[in-house]
Amino acid sequence: MVTIEGKSVFGGIAIGPVEILKKKENKVIRDHVKDVEAEVKRYERGSEETKAQLQALFDKALDEVGEANAAIFRVHQLMLSDMDYVESIENMIRTQKVNAEYAVAMTSDNFSTLFESMDDDYMRARSADVKDVSNRLIRVLSGFRENMIQSDRSVILAAEDLAPSETVQLDKERILGFVTRYGSANSHTAILARTMNIPAVIGADFPDDCDGKTAVLDGFTGTLYIDPDEKFIHEMRKKQREEQEKQELLQMLKGKEDVTLSGKEIRLYANVGSVQDVMAALKNDAAGIGLFRSEFLYLEKDHYPTEEEQFHVYKTVAESMAGKKVIIRTLDIGADKQIDYFEMEPEENPAMGYRAIRICLDRVSLFKTQLRALYRASAYGNIAIMYPMIISQEEVRKIKVISEEVRKELSLMGIPYGNVEQGIMIETPAAALISDLLAKEVDFFSIGTNDLSQYTLAIDRQNPKLDALFDPYHPAIFRFLQMIIDNGHKAGIWVGICGELGADLSLTERFIHMGIDELSVAPSMVLPVRQKIRQTR
Ligand code: PEP
Ligand code: MG
Repeated sequence: MVTIEGKSVFGGIAIGPVEILKKKENKVIRDHVKDVEAEVKRYERGSEETKAQLQALFDKALDEVGEANAAIFRVHQLMLSDMDYVESIENMIRTQKVNAEYAVAMTSDNFSTLFESMDDDYMRARSADVKDVSNRLIRVLSGFRENMIQSDRSVILAAEDLAPSETVQLDKERILGFVTRYGSANSHTAILARTMNIPAVIGADFPDDCDGKTAVLDGFTGTLYIDPDEKFIHEMRKKQREEQEKQELLQMLKGKEDVTLSGKEIRLYANVGSVQDVMAALKNDAAGIGLFRSEFLYLEKDHYPTEEEQFHVYKTVAESMAGKKVIIRTLDIGADKQIDYFEMEPEENPAMGYRAIRICLDRVSLFKTQLRALYRASAYGNIAIMYPMIISQEEVRKIKVISEEVRKELSLMGIPYGNVEQGIMIETPAAALISDLLAKEVDFFSIGTNDLSQYTLAIDRQNPKLDALFDPYHPAIFRFLQMIIDNGHKAGIWVGICGELGADLSLTERFIHMGIDELSVAPSMVLPVRQKIRQTR
């Protein structure tokens, strides 16, 4: 048995085969083929399938972004049927007896070089298109399922690192546990693992040859065991069962109130990133959703989610929570949460860059689409809206003007909406320091301790080398927390914590004594925190 130490991100024991995640790779190998006519047929089938994919993309784009923007997919379809392009590929297969992927890759290189050298802007721009459409065709031909689990069984997924956009696209039902070589304990991927209730370990340097081998992942200790013997598996199964029993005991807390021994009621909500997570929140008896990270909706897609698509998700969440509070945070991308179709320019310092509310206030139509979807959904439940990364009163005032415009537009169109509370995240030192002024502008504060710690301690939450220095118990954080709570209360608004610190059981009592009104935690942490609240004086 090989033992590899990493860092625990989320507890739990996973036992099963390891699968090393194969990332998108467009390396094409030259193969010799015997039956060239069969290869030409395979190429033709691949080309048809690619055209069908492009047709579906065209239809979708037509609906969502209009004909002018959808037209590019038509251009790609036409390129696949272009006689010169087709003949080049078929000739290469027949004369050089090579595989279709290789013939497509070579043709793509030749055509794009040719286009690039032309003295015509339009043709030069086609160079990127020919590469793009050829890569799509190569992926279809090689049958590669990008960034997807290849095995049909449930697996312990091993990866170099996982970006949030990759994590959200994985088939969670089939992941027993996560193990990554890199990554930070405070990253969004780590947060996702906690939300998904999946044992997870980072910083574990697993060997390349562990693919397919049986392993045990101990999320409590942060250890991966490869090729364990029967006796060890038996012991770990016992640990797994004991954990399940503990979980079952916690189930007795379902339906109980979140009230301390001295009678203070705490709102105990759940953090979620998808409709599936909402089911986990309900299963764990959360009194509401304290943070719906709406950016995951954008991360899951390869296009801007339309108003209808967003409305449908928010409405489903509001209805599923049946009148319980659902706090939806507006788009918080940037930094580690990158989305290709946003086409953001690389930045020197993305954590302090063009992100979250800064993007929304800059790209107002994008913001308004989300707000319209949120307000429309608010007619179906108890939705509140929360804005991330605030640093000034001006930002809040601009937000209020835009949301007022959205409400007016809906009223004019006779579209109903509910009474929506508007709050902000306090996750920058600037917001904490002017929380007395901000409190006068909004209905509630939710403290994002993940970013507040990052910016207060000047420690990049993504940098694994600094995990040891990332001290969420630093007195500076607690001074800020007390200041924010007091300033909120002075203005008569409620104050909660939705950062990961809110789920730290060693701090529940302290938070309550500091005056916190709400704690929003991963669904799997709702019942353990409830137990702590009920034991607090
Ligand atoms: C936070 O910063 O604490 C927070 C809850 O938001 P996120 O982790 O998504 O940045
Ligand atoms: Mg944050």
